[in-house]
Amino acid sequence: MIAGRTRAAWIDDFPLISELAAMRELSWFNPEIAGTAEEGIADVGLTEADIRDASARLKRFAPYIRSVFPETSVSAGIIESPIAAVPNLASVIGERKGVQMPGSMWAKLDSHLPISGSIKARGGIYEVLKHAEEIALKHELITLDSDYSVLDSDEAREVFGRYRVAVGSTGNLGLSIGIMSAKLGFKASVHMSADARQWKKDRLRSHGVEVVEYESDYSIAVAAGRKQAESDETIYFVDDENSKSLFLGYAVSGHRLAGQLQSMEVQVDADHPLFVYLPCGVGGGPGGVAFGLKVEFGDAVRCIFTEPTHCPSMLLGVHTGAHEALAVQDFGIDNVTAADGLACGRPSGFVGQAMGRLIDGFYTVDDDEMYRLVAEADGAEGLKMEPSSATSLLGPVHVMANAEYRERIGINDETFANATHLSWITGGNMVPEDEMASYIVKGNSLL
Ligand SMILES: *Cc1c(COP(=O)(O)O)cnc(C)c1O
Repeated sequence: MIAGRTRAAWIDDFPLISELAAMRELSWFNPEIAGTAEEGIADVGLTEADIRDASARLKRFAPYIRSVFPETSVSAGIIESPIAAVPNLASVIGERKGVQMPGSMWAKLDSHLPISGSIKARGGIYEVLKHAEEIALKHELITLDSDYSVLDSDEAREVFGRYRVAVGSTGNLGLSIGIMSAKLGFKASVHMSADARQWKKDRLRSHGVEVVEYESDYSIAVAAGRKQAESDETIYFVDDENSKSLFLGYAVSGHRLAGQLQSMEVQVDADHPLFVYLPCGVGGGPGGVAFGLKVEFGDAVRCIFTEPTHCPSMLLGVHTGAHEALAVQDFGIDNVTAADGLACGRPSGFVGQAMGRLIDGFYTVDDDEMYRLVAEADGAEGLKMEPSSATSLLGPVHVMANAEYRERIGINDETFANATHLSWITGGNMVPEDEMASYIVKGNSLL
């Protein structure tokens, strides 16, 4: 039995499950999306005011961030990534896939986010800062009006040193939380699943972070971390499967992206839709970003998630409505993938339920294809990214191939020609050079 039903009954009700279990590439466009963005946003239980609150907190911390991470001084301590037009990459991928890529294609380079080189520098760092602010206020190190750079002091580090921050991670979240926590002076523990890359563990240990290694899946690492924290109130556990703080840290990107698109004179409205392609693991990162985007752009933005063929966990959860009750392994899907950032076999129940009706669709990408895309991004644009991120580059091909979906959301050919496609490149900048070079060699050998 799987979550109260036999395997055969699940497949009877949801034939797509057998296709997922075959681990071949596919797409699924959600027939149950909300009629309007507004209606979908009402499901989430969080509001624009919550995003503004998170944004204001990050502004309060900016002087501190600038002081301890000098690489953020160009953005005055705000951790943000650039966007880049990628026309050459659009034609290279289009040519290989035999389609004329529609509209214009852009990349959001979270691969280049300061501090930890991945999308986790949004949610992960935000949650640690929120926790640090609570402690700093309680110990009267600051008031809400202080210049937070005073937290870069031995006095503050001594206070934070009485507390520990813990997290379970496949790698990138651990890097963000570990580096930020250690910088503030917290003790930090990162519970790493088996698929975490060695260099990520080494990097964390070099920052004085305790790395606890597991032979098993990400969910087990998270459960172990959660358990450790339950028994000790000085330990704060960042719960990737349920955290609303993480989610809001990601959501802040929506408003900022609007400013970036505007400064590049990219129009987004009903006649100029914006399609955003988001690599999905447990769901918090893409879910939070998608929430921020929907709040910012309403129905003009369409969010599509992408997952490895070997780990389509959010797709399984949203399609069946069973969310965290199902893991991909329940159906013999092995969760073994080069996309270590996405290898979460069980999705976040919070994100699936909150965001299910705001996610227009999903597509899966196999590992060989990820390597090809990594090589093409390097060759066509000189962009370096980890395999997880490269999945987002195939989005326009899937939307192009699905006329039924476009019609259903009221986008005709003329409007589609005005579309902007934005692939969220979620990680890569901190991958060691030799490892990146080996991804590219492998991708080129598969082209
Ligand atoms: C974590 C991660 C994601 C997805 O975020 P989730 O919150 O796990 O869904 C995507 N890409 C990379 C590189 C990541 O590290």
